[in-house]
Amino acid sequence: MSKLPLRARLATSIGGAAGRVSRLAGRGDGSVIGGVLGLRVEPDLLRLLAADRQVVLVTGTNGKTTTTRLIAAALEALGQDVASNAFGANMEAGLASALGRAPNAPYAVLEVDERYLAAMIKVTAPRVVVLLNLSRDQMDRAAEIWLTARRWREALAAAPDCMVIANADDPLIAWAASAASHVTWVAAGQRWHEDSWCCPQCGSHLRRDELGWRCGECGFARPPTRWVLTEDAVIDESGQLRELALALPGRANRCNAVVALAVGAHFGAAVDQALPRLRQVSSVAGRYTQVQRHGRTVRLLLAKNPAGWLEALDILAPSPGPVLLAVNAQTPDGKDTSWLWDVDYRRLRGRPVYVSGERRLDLAVRLEADDVAFELVDGIDDAVARVPGGALDVIGNYTAFQQIRATLGRTD
Ligand SMILES: [Zn+2]
Repeated sequence: MSKLPLRARLATSIGGAAGRVSRLAGRGDGSVIGGVLGLRVEPDLLRLLAADRQVVLVTGTNGKTTTTRLIAAALEALGQDVASNAFGANMEAGLASALGRAPNAPYAVLEVDERYLAAMIKVTAPRVVVLLNLSRDQMDRAAEIWLTARRWREALAAAPDCMVIANADDPLIAWAASAASHVTWVAAGQRWHEDSWCCPQCGSHLRRDELGWRCGECGFARPPTRWVLTEDAVIDESGQLRELALALPGRANRCNAVVALAVGAHFGAAVDQALPRLRQVSSVAGRYTQVQRHGRTVRLLLAKNPAGWLEALDILAPSPGPVLLAVNAQTPDGKDTSWLWDVDYRRLRGRPVYVSGERRLDLAVRLEADDVAFELVDGIDDAVARVPGGALDVIGNYTAFQQIRATLGRTD
């Protein structure tokens, strides 16, 4: 901190004070407003705050927040402070605020919005960039995610000292990462294939088999991997297999954990040091939290796009466990709900399904088309009252999830 120029120090303290005021006023965690004010005082603030740190940037359509949390946990095994935007403020102001709040932390693990990755690589000069997955988000078109991948390629090609840790099973991710000078490939799997039927390099049809994917035309193929996720175990780069046994549910989180272990190992945190810390993470910014409500156990799952819904449906308690689905269409969610038609809801047949949210009728039409029986409800407490007892899983998109979280009392 003391090495920062005077104006940057001033910008950091003004930003910090604004963030505290915002928190006291009950307006979220204050990281965005604090960062915005700090950047107004010193436009170069993020670069100054990132200098001399080991920065890790984490991006992808799904799993950014959770993976960021897991990587921070892995690096904490090294016994040093880790700065992180743990609550998902993932544009420039959120990053500046996260670094400003931990001025002496030698490590920084920062979630970055996909569209800002290229710019943030230039500003923060990261040691490691993590690329998780890339798929349609709300109404994004396939062409837009290909454009995103192309921007990543250009930024990574211009950062020759950066190590990329990337999922080899996502063809678009593999294409983006292959422009980097150094890549550690992770076999993390890909559940959602709908955005990667075509070769990112030449546009031909991709072939898939048990060994991975390959383009029959140009030969672009899944790269060989150094870290592997098996069903519930990780195989590290020395070939040693260890059970993950995470508290977080679902295959998507096991992928995220393997990526976090690979990042940790890059900085010298051995798997045996890091893994026990990953197992202690049981919820991330309210996700996967279990809350008692009128004698029922409510579990909160966030799903913002078709690939995310597929992952959330995988995590549900076994049928016939009841589930509440909540959908809004505010600005952070995307105003158009036609993406609901990209999700296959048929597996919900046979279990009690409750539907809430501002756009519950859109979801109702979609469920009817999939022949899924459901009841419309007026929110979380109405759903809880209709469940006889025991557990209720809740899947919500972004603002619907936040509303339910607020009703239940903000949960971590
Ligand atoms: Zn090809």
